[in-house]
Amino acid sequence: MFENLIAQNAKSLLADDIARGRLPPSILLSGSPASGKLTAALEIARALSCEAPRHAGTVGSPAASMAPWGCQCPSCRKHKELAHPDLLVVGPRDCALEVRAAAAAFARARSKAAQYLFIRSVRKLTLRFSPQLADESDQRLSKAAPLIADIEEGIEELDPSRDPWSDASKAEKAIGSLVLLAEKLEAEFLYDSLPVAQVRAASSWAWLSPAGKKKVLVVENADRMQEGARNAFLKTLEEPPSNAVFVLTTARRGAVLPTILSRVRTYAFVDRSETEESEVVERVFHDRAATGESLSSYFNRFLPVPPDAIALAGARFLGGVLARSIDEGRRPLPATRAALDARFAALPGGDAASRLGPPEAGELVAQLAKCQPRAIYRLFVASVLRVLRDALRSGSTDARETAVLSSWTKAARDAVDAVSVYNISPTSALESLADRMREAV
Ligand SMILES: [Zn+2]
Repeated sequence: MFENLIAQNAKSLLADDIARGRLPPSILLSGSPASGKLTAALEIARALSCEAPRHAGTVGSPAASMAPWGCQCPSCRKHKELAHPDLLVVGPRDCALEVRAAAAAFARARSKAAQYLFIRSVRKLTLRFSPQLADESDQRLSKAAPLIADIEEGIEELDPSRDPWSDASKAEKAIGSLVLLAEKLEAEFLYDSLPVAQVRAASSWAWLSPAGKKKVLVVENADRMQEGARNAFLKTLEEPPSNAVFVLTTARRGAVLPTILSRVRTYAFVDRSETEESEVVERVFHDRAATGESLSSYFNRFLPVPPDAIALAGARFLGGVLARSIDEGRRPLPATRAALDARFAALPGGDAASRLGPPEAGELVAQLAKCQPRAIYRLFVASVLRVLRDALRSGSTDARETAVLSSWTKAARDAVDAVSVYNISPTSALESLADRMREAV
């Protein structure tokens, strides 16, 4: 197991705990985005359900012979296509970029492995719309149902047990339309934070008997839950069903409620080195990473807006806040201005953009493809935060400017939560961020 998880020591700990039957009922996989947490969670689900007999007396660790990726047992076959009834995935995730990257890999490699990669990338999204999560108070799932049906039909055409490349142009067309359907599904129906009704539905599901050996509920970005959802989830963790394992993931362990943390064992995922990240791009996506390109930045190649344009929009936003606060008679922030000018100078097209007038939030969001996928919004705020950090590190801020910069940093982080936890629109979040920033000067 874990053959597809590259350069993460946590996998040997997890494999060992699974093989010895010591995996706790609730665990947390903690690490940066794109560090392999979901890959690991899905492998845990597969390994716990594998029906193949264990080979006693194998040399090496007990984990070595368990649930190999090539296992042909009926359970593993379903898990490899992410179509096992004992697997449920909830929580927000940016799926669309990985779908695009996997589609490109499939087009390049035309192998069974790449076909699985693509189908899995799509199901990582559609699993979040399982009928098991349906709730009377929420029409979103039923509205998404026709789209899901179209996607499943498309996947059917790419069935790994058939040979899709007998007619290459037909397969390429099928892949292209699946990518568009997946993007539509994510943009229109995926929640930015886990709703309480889904927590309740997922908990009820976990209490039902498994179809096979074990049920696994994966809760992604467990830090992005509103209070009601957190409390409902905490109740489930307090009395976990015996036939289920909860696998939580987070990129911000510090933002997970301490009462939840105290009920899970954490497995830490490390930031991979540059060489290891290129290895993932090469081995998994059959592509070459640029020098210094992380897996996250590799995925960003598939954004509808180039990362430099997003960074430039962030700089323009900050420039607008500075210009307006001067207009309102507030005192200038020289170190911030200098850091911003340096940022404009470093970005392609920055010099021209720096001379444009202060942009409206709505105009910015429209230029950024309405911040769909949401990764665009997070990159936008990250580019604002970067200038603030540069200014703070320049060593030329006085006490007043330092105080302004730290309150701006806090406001920018809150603006990320406003969208990803509280489902506020990016335009409203940026409008209130601009107001908060000007008031803090
Ligand atoms: Zn198996």
